[in-house]
Amino acid sequence: MKYIDEVRQTVAARNADQPEFMQAVDEVLSTIRPVVESNDLYKQNAILERITEPDRQIMFRIPWTDDKGNLRVNRGYRIQFNNAIGPYKGGLRLHPSVNLSIIKFLGFEQIFKNSLTGLPIGGGKGGSDFDPKGKSEREIRDFCQSFMTELSRHIGADTDVPAGDIGVGGREIGYMFGQYKRIKNIYEGVLTGKGLTYGGSLTRTEATGYGLVYIVENMLNANGLGIKGKTVAISGSGNVAIYAAQKAMQLGAKVVTMSDSNGWIYDPKGIDLDVVRDIKEVKRGRIKEYADRVKSAEYHDSGRVWQVKCDIALPCATQNELDVQDAKQLIANKVIAVGEGANMPSTTEAINAFQSSDVLFMPAKAANAGGVAVSALEMSQNSLRLSWTFDEVDERLKGIMKGIFEKTSDAAKTYAKPTDYVSGANIAGFLKVATAMIAQGV
Ligand code: NDP
Repeated sequence: MKYIDEVRQTVAARNADQPEFMQAVDEVLSTIRPVVESNDLYKQNAILERITEPDRQIMFRIPWTDDKGNLRVNRGYRIQFNNAIGPYKGGLRLHPSVNLSIIKFLGFEQIFKNSLTGLPIGGGKGGSDFDPKGKSEREIRDFCQSFMTELSRHIGADTDVPAGDIGVGGREIGYMFGQYKRIKNIYEGVLTGKGLTYGGSLTRTEATGYGLVYIVENMLNANGLGIKGKTVAISGSGNVAIYAAQKAMQLGAKVVTMSDSNGWIYDPKGIDLDVVRDIKEVKRGRIKEYADRVKSAEYHDSGRVWQVKCDIALPCATQNELDVQDAKQLIANKVIAVGEGANMPSTTEAINAFQSSDVLFMPAKAANAGGVAVSALEMSQNSLRLSWTFDEVDERLKGIMKGIFEKTSDAAKTYAKPTDYVSGANIAGFLKVATAMIAQGV
């Protein structure tokens, strides 16, 4: 049996109860075969066994009190996956679906994504099964402080630097940062996504969504196409979705859909983003309210945004939200490009369907790396004790996304086929980390 297949078998046996993690591992292993099989050093240094096993997995209890005075307990996670090229870096997710498999898949992906940015950051991820929906301000604060009480033992500006993800935005980062400072008495850039008055970076809020659209534009241009005048379907209505929509509109595209976990809206005239932002960022309401406020819009509480005809699809909500049926529907509607804003939003079968129909497909590791890249720029600014302007950070983000596209595209051309950006991103991300691991010894 070949080295790569042996490792796959061992990882599958060891993680039999972790489907999302295995999905992420399978995708990487199946695409890096040409490089792994061309160099014995990877086997001699057990690189695949080591890269698929986290450096450490921390699980802990988070006690907090609700507004009725009841003591509640959630489970917290921090997976420190790989620090070959820099301190662990990756977001914190608060969602009832969070479990070890989901945090491990996200941490594993983060290794390659962070490598692709070209910046010195390793891979990690964390979170909790706490559900922030419907919680009061006080309950959120109490939870975040309790979460950080334990997490603070394991992180630090040069060790592990968490950020936001689903359910964790500026408010939660603020409470966690405050608690870290209180416990450690150190003012350091231990978290990114901070508020602008205490060390946050301009453009961080917009970075993932903007970066997604920048790289999709690079991909379209490289294939003789452009974004102007295109119709775009977006899922989700959170941080990534909102700023992907904003940038797509600024570049002359028309965004016609958005969604949340209850349903989705279709506005053939083009989404009015001010209304979405008021519902989501100010009132923390449901996307359904959009159709009550904008007459041209329809609201659906079943099905998915992918049934709407579009040129470009940007899944920006959560993992496995676009399956093979959705992919077939998009292909039948002549979609030309898909860019993954969320992490692993397309199932393996959906990706295969896009690739075999010559739809340009940019995977999450490359497509949504703008967020973590600007987080790394926030770390740099904190270390320098300086703040760069919005335009300065935006220009760097543009340059980083162009660099990611070029690395991905070059690796695809060398090892796979020119538009196989899935293989390209995995291979380019892997090569840098594996080389660093070999250089540093076991
Ligand atoms: P938010 O919490 O801001 O928004 C998430 C959006 O997705 C909401 O509209 C939410 O709806 C929807 N959603 C979440 N879970 C589900 C579900 N199970 N089914 C249907 N809809 C769901 O998160 P972000 O925008 O930050 O993150 C979105 C995706 O992007 C995630 O995969 C995240 O890992 C990825 N990502 C985020 C980065 C960032 O910088 N924020 C960086 C890189 C990747 P509802 O409000 O109803 O839950």
